[in-house]
Amino acid sequence: GAGVLTVANEPAAWLATFPRPGSISHKYDRGHAVVLSGGPSHTGAARLAARGALRIGAGLVTLVTSARALSVNAAHLTAIMIRVCDEPDELSDLLMDDRFNAVALGPALGIGETTRAWVAAVLESDRATVLDADALTSFAGDAQALADLIGAGREHPVVLTPHEGEFARLFGKGTGLSKLDRARRAAADTGAVVVLKGPDTVIAAPDGRAAINENGSAYLATAGSGDVLVGLITGLMAQGMDAFEASCAAVWLHAAAGGRFGPGLIAEDLPDLMPGELRLLL
Ligand code: AMP
Ligand code: MG
Repeated sequence: GAGVLTVANEPAAWLATFPRPGSISHKYDRGHAVVLSGGPSHTGAARLAARGALRIGAGLVTLVTSARALSVNAAHLTAIMIRVCDEPDELSDLLMDDRFNAVALGPALGIGETTRAWVAAVLESDRATVLDADALTSFAGDAQALADLIGAGREHPVVLTPHEGEFARLFGKGTGLSKLDRARRAAADTGAVVVLKGPDTVIAAPDGRAAINENGSAYLATAGSGDVLVGLITGLMAQGMDAFEASCAAVWLHAAAGGRFGPGLIAEDLPDLMPGELRLLL
């Protein structure tokens, strides 16, 4: 049940380890985040995540795209870099370079075997990883297969960011358990940090730490907002922040930005609201 390790998600819990550049930092010290794009008509989600990763302080962000989606992605990016990978093997080769230190995938990738193969390639590379959306739903009813890919002996953490629908498809309904206990059980069973989203997002780590987010804003209920959250978590992990603390920080900042902006918020706004939120804290 909810023990002493469960707390309200407050900045005091993660501000001390929030990454800040040192006076002699260069961009290569600030982490390199990688985000996988969907196909030619599904590229926006990855760009939202990529921009979130950049705004939260990652020094470099690379968007990985198929050749077919290259031109649409390239036409919409400036500071974010692009690499073409048409097969999971090509991504495996890219990720052999451990300077690519955090990877996000799932939004708008499509559901099925192909996405499972991309997830497997990324998890086998043992980089800090955020799995969301279709990366989770492609394992619907087979959470054990995902847990097996995550494995026990990893060096780098994995974060899962399901909303309630994605969570139920992956782990089942968990009838009778609280939201907190469902997230904690999923974290223990997979070895990943689980961010179970919604008005009262729960963040649970496999080591038993858990936090409940209380600054949620209903203005976040808009297309693409979860994709930005993926990028924020990935960008913080790229900078070496602990996965649980990165998840707590990202969820809080995302909600604070949504609440302060209020009516008319769209996902595109969220990355660009990070500087204002961070200035109040750092
Ligand atoms: P997704 O469902 O992947 O689009 O992600 C939606 C994001 O918005 C998540 O971060 C949710 O926690 C957040 N969100 C959605 N609805 C609400 C709500 N009513 N109150 C607070 N946050 C919400
Ligand atoms: Mg989503």
